[in-house]
Amino acid sequence: MFRTTAYRHPSEFPILLLTFLISIAVVILSAFLTQCLSLLIVVFILGMSIVSSRSMQAQLMRKAFLVSPERSPELAKVVQVCEKRLQPGSLDVYVVRENVVNAYTFGLSKTKTIVLYEPMLRIMSRGELAFVLGHEMGHVSLGHTWLNTFIGGLAGSPSPFGISYIMYLVFQRWSRACEYSCDRAGLLACGNLKLAVSALVRLAAPKIQTQAEFEQALTMIDAQDDAFVNQLAEMFQSHPMIIKRINALKEYAASPDYASLQANVDRNLQA
Ligand SMILES: [Zn+2]
Repeated sequence: MFRTTAYRHPSEFPILLLTFLISIAVVILSAFLTQCLSLLIVVFILGMSIVSSRSMQAQLMRKAFLVSPERSPELAKVVQVCEKRLQPGSLDVYVVRENVVNAYTFGLSKTKTIVLYEPMLRIMSRGELAFVLGHEMGHVSLGHTWLNTFIGGLAGSPSPFGISYIMYLVFQRWSRACEYSCDRAGLLACGNLKLAVSALVRLAAPKIQTQAEFEQALTMIDAQDDAFVNQLAEMFQSHPMIIKRINALKEYAASPDYASLQANVDRNLQA
């Protein structure tokens, strides 16, 4: 039986080769363009997160006053002691007139800003405020202010296959690790475990006034980590459960590392 493929047109092979090469080139180019586009999106989101945090901060600052020895001598002294102990570098502390029990830190430039909301001054003693201020100074010293903006921006970038969700969870995990670090800074700044613990209790239960209410709040906080649903909810939160923070601080306070660091930062007070 005579069988032939000699009728194949001479242009078929070169065109096949060309088609193959062009297809490969298109795949490579489109992968490259997708990468460039992803990078552009990430840069855009980072830019947006910087702009939005700046405008939020500017809005907040309109309701704030700078803590100075003239305007708030008591608080300025607490700030000074914390700064001497922790040496966080250039920062300003502001008090915001708003009915929120919170404190936080921001800033991408050399001088960072720590914000205390006014009710904190009413519900906390000087020692407890030193814990809160020390905690915020820890965020400054450890570079969390800019890391938070950049990593938060990256973790918020859109990505396929639910990867953005994984990035969000990992970012929250990192954020909780930062909180444990800064609680240690807070303890070093106030130099007293009991004050550090009571500051954390007051953050969780700001309305407590008497010792009995304090003990009651502590019992409730103590039960936090018993519930599985709370453990699960924590995965999505930027801050660990208060009871976990208290337990981590107690453990740290009993360590030789803490004792030697505390002795060293205390020495700064004499300098
Ligand atoms: Zn914090």
